[in-house]
Amino acid sequence: MVTLTTNTTATTYVDSVYNKLVETNGHEVEFLQAAKEIIYSLTPVFEKRPELMEAGILERIVEPERILKFRVTWMDDAGKVQVNRGYRIQFNSAIGPYKGGLRFHPSVNESIVKFLGFEQIFKNSLTGQPIGGGKGGSDFDPKGKSNNEIMRFCQAFMTELYRHIGQDIDVPAGDIGVGGREVGYLFGQYKRIRGGYEPGVLTGKGLSFGGSLTRTEATGYGCVYFVDEMLQEIKESFQNQTVVVSGSGNVAIYAIEKAQQLGAKVVAASDSSGYIHDPEGIDLALLKDIKEVRKARIIEYVKERPEATYTEGCTGIWTIPCDIALPCATQNEIDEASARLLVENGVKAVGEGANMPSTLEAIDVYLENNVLFAPAKAANAGGVAVSALEMAQDSSRQFWTFDEVDKKLHQIMINIYNESSAAAKRYGHEGNLLFGSNIAGFEKVADAMLAQGII
Ligand code: GLU
Repeated sequence: MVTLTTNTTATTYVDSVYNKLVETNGHEVEFLQAAKEIIYSLTPVFEKRPELMEAGILERIVEPERILKFRVTWMDDAGKVQVNRGYRIQFNSAIGPYKGGLRFHPSVNESIVKFLGFEQIFKNSLTGQPIGGGKGGSDFDPKGKSNNEIMRFCQAFMTELYRHIGQDIDVPAGDIGVGGREVGYLFGQYKRIRGGYEPGVLTGKGLSFGGSLTRTEATGYGCVYFVDEMLQEIKESFQNQTVVVSGSGNVAIYAIEKAQQLGAKVVAASDSSGYIHDPEGIDLALLKDIKEVRKARIIEYVKERPEATYTEGCTGIWTIPCDIALPCATQNEIDEASARLLVENGVKAVGEGANMPSTLEAIDVYLENNVLFAPAKAANAGGVAVSALEMAQDSSRQFWTFDEVDKKLHQIMINIYNESSAAAKRYGHEGNLLFGSNIAGFEKVADAMLAQGII
């Protein structure tokens, strides 16, 4: 337990909370990384607002309200019994029902789900919508599985999860390995078990059963809208900029699309096996066909586009000179060495489409070298923001056009930029969006926790 005295300084306070977290969660490296970044950036808030220390807000916010961990048993096509582990972390419900995606990937463990859930609290708060923080997933590997296996897995997963979720309780969605197909199977099973039609229980649904237009594009578009705001501060835009985007999933593809629409030349993309470099600019129709229709590996791209090259491995993508880097693949994909290469090659801005794609050391490199930095929880909030718009449409039983949702998304990203930038200024870190977004996201949740008493 962290005991506070009235003369505890903000620095001692954040140190004591972080040290306690290391003591009790030492093996959860990803969670500690996410926590460290946020906790220390909040020091100026505690200096100005000691009442938040006295109410123990930080000790409470780093502890998930609930961690659910369950067995998922299913049968593969060969008739063999398979067992995976499922998770749902209900991290914080101060400002709304838990909200956040499900990730199906072999790397998923408690630390990964906790870091994602923790980030989600602040990200969701930044959207300005009434959604708390949650996240879940499984170590199930969708790669190489048949459609029927995916369906049986999703049904088995939901057979346990259903009792913990609901449109006013906890609203899952997609993340890595969970897209429209998986959400459809999860929803079907939820509906079958519940015996009622409750579309607001999941987001990222198909358009014919309560989904929202622009949800698929939202994270990638939102990231580019955010970076565009940031570029305007230095009187620049995406026009004629060379952009490197990592990944080729939902986030990457629509970040490429929007960057191209704004006049940029996007020269690279990747998957978990390797990356393509297309100096003339990526042929997005071809990339979409490979990834979304054929569901094939990115290496296929160079077979049809000989002017492009393919290289095995992922980190080499950051050796390609660019003006703007948009890491949209996964956590810790840019380490200190890659960040230095980006800087040496003259990068002007980094916008994080993935969750925590830069290590803490990489972030230091950006900040020391005055690279404009759009941190994930602000820059990739567009996905969950449109999820909240999907919930609103489901509740009202009225659906909006693509343009209506896109306009709302754009405005939300502008608001997040303005609020983060204002918070940074208010607390003496002008221009530092990492501090600004952490503080802006935190204050809203902290005020709600304060108002709701010691719970
Ligand atoms: N998985 C996405 C994220 O990291 C979206 C979550 C959601 O739509 O609930 O924010």
